[in-house]
Amino acid sequence: MPDVILVTGGHGLVGKAIEHVLVTEAPNTRYGRRDGETWVFASSKEGDLRNEAETKALFAKYKPTHVIHLAALVGGLFMNMKQKLSMLRDNININNNVLHTSYETGVEKVVSCLSTCVFPDGITPPLREDKIHLGPPHDSNFGYAYAKRLVDIANHAYREQFNCNFTAAIPTNIYGTHDNFDLEDSHVIPGLIHKCYLAKKNGTPFVVAGTGKPLRQFVFSYDLAKMFIWQLREYDDVEPIIFSVGENEDVSIGYVAEQIVKAFDFKGEVKFDTSKSDGQFRKPASNEKLLRLVRETSKDQEEFQFTPFEQGLNETVQWFNDNYETARR
Ligand code: NDP
Repeated sequence: MPDVILVTGGHGLVGKAIEHVLVTEAPNTRYGRRDGETWVFASSKEGDLRNEAETKALFAKYKPTHVIHLAALVGGLFMNMKQKLSMLRDNININNNVLHTSYETGVEKVVSCLSTCVFPDGITPPLREDKIHLGPPHDSNFGYAYAKRLVDIANHAYREQFNCNFTAAIPTNIYGTHDNFDLEDSHVIPGLIHKCYLAKKNGTPFVVAGTGKPLRQFVFSYDLAKMFIWQLREYDDVEPIIFSVGENEDVSIGYVAEQIVKAFDFKGEVKFDTSKSDGQFRKPASNEKLLRLVRETSKDQEEFQFTPFEQGLNETVQWFNDNYETARR
């Protein structure tokens, strides 16, 4: 029987990146499309996964043997703070429907997507896979965080009760083409790219919220896509894996803004609005487990290389410039 891989949230930032990697990598390689595989990238228009009947209908239509589960109600800090119940309830319903329908229809493997928001607030750094449940998450996004944490709990329960091959990835901050560039409800990089685009167009200052000093680990969506493909094909443990650049490869928000200015060739004024909150100064996550496992499973296969931040950011800015009319914003 051929493999049918269903990617939920397949039209979002990460879904589009997986589609890109599968066609740009040579066929039948570590990350390229393999003979006998059919990949289905589902959007919410094909079925609202908060709804059980629509989820079942989607699975009945494609009969997936494998699932990469990316669909989620996702937003930046502001949306997480103002819609805690929606973030909790919608994401619990989506995850419950996808995992249970996968179990009921005999899906061989599910890789779901968590986030580093799941980690306890104030935990001793670095973030590591064995620290997820050691305390409550940060108050600003507890709805989203608890919904995501429950996926890890569910994965263990499905494995123990029904021997399901369900696991999860924990990405740090993702950026890339096809992101949501909304000025209010987006993550930091797409939000700053859109602001700089408008500042250049309107001849106004480029205003960055906060001091620009906090440090974050950013992973390019095409790199993350390779990690998901690797995890689906080569990793069979229930324990989740952090997907990130190294813990000392974090960059400041000020540096991100500087690189966006460079990529746009923006000549206007850059201002830091220090009346806005900075959030946590730094929350380094360890990618030691990921790198060790990818290396161990490499044999004659290509080893994993991260795209330099400046290159990934430049590609993202150019994509936004070229696709301004159709980009999500
Ligand atoms: P996007 O918002 O780009 O994609 C999420 C997708 O989920 C959307 O394309 C949307 O589909 C789909 N979706 C949302 N609600 C529903 C629903 N009710 N039914 C069906 N589909 C739905 O997000 P990302 O690609 O950034 O996120 C992918 C995963 O990565 C998520 O699980 C997210 O939590 C996680 N993540 C993201 C990070 C980031 O920095 N972006 C960081 C860490 C984790 P449509 O567009 O068709 O409506």
